[in-house]
Amino acid sequence: MTINVDADEIRKFSDLAHRWWDPTSEFRPLHEINPLRVAWIDQVARLAGKATLDVGCGGGVLAEAMAKRGARVKGIDLADKPLKVAQLHLLESGLEVDYEKIAAEHLAEREPGRYDVVTCMEVLEHVPDPASTVRSCAALAKSGGDLFFATINRNPKSYLFAIVGAEYVLRLLPRGTHDYAKLIKPSELARFARDAGLDVKEVIGMTYNPITKIYSLGRDTDVNYLVHAVKPA
Ligand code: SAH
Repeated sequence: MTINVDADEIRKFSDLAHRWWDPTSEFRPLHEINPLRVAWIDQVARLAGKATLDVGCGGGVLAEAMAKRGARVKGIDLADKPLKVAQLHLLESGLEVDYEKIAAEHLAEREPGRYDVVTCMEVLEHVPDPASTVRSCAALAKSGGDLFFATINRNPKSYLFAIVGAEYVLRLLPRGTHDYAKLIKPSELARFARDAGLDVKEVIGMTYNPITKIYSLGRDTDVNYLVHAVKPA
């Protein structure tokens, strides 16, 4: 199997990895959206005690927050440095997460149907074949399991907000973080999920107010959005 990964993307995240847990760094947006997304996931999936897999975990911001809510979390990524940072951060947080460098496709062969909850957030727009990642996430989930995806929509407004606004005007993210052509419409992600045998339950938007600097969840899926899907029993 050829691995579904773009070496430039891995390099991008590796180069910044030492700043992953600095809430004022390039990773500030991940820290700021984290409480919102974790609260939503926990409300839908009841994380306590659940076998949970975080695909594309990076430095572990989401993985640790789910562990804190009582989930038994495994985090996978293909970038060495972010995984090392994630592993080191466990010493500081005292939480337990099982990190491993492995492709979702390969873990799906080893551990099919193993997880109650599978998350893959802010990753699909960095992967060459997002449909394959979604299929692997589906294969990794138990029947009846919950899956959560988050990515960025592709339209003129998302270009303006997520790329021009975030990377050039507000400088929340380094230039080149997101490539317009790789952004994914909710309809496309819903099709990947359905083609993987999943039922899409909810698509919700996440918006950022640059004046108040507050992120919120709501109906506006024009830029950032999150998807909840279920693997039918
Ligand atoms: N999901 C985490 C990190 C998002 S940053 C969070 O939301 O907090 C994007 C992450 O995707 C990086 O850690 C990067 O290394 C990872 N990534 C990029 N391409 C990948 C691939 N093909 N397979 C697995 N992880 C990948």
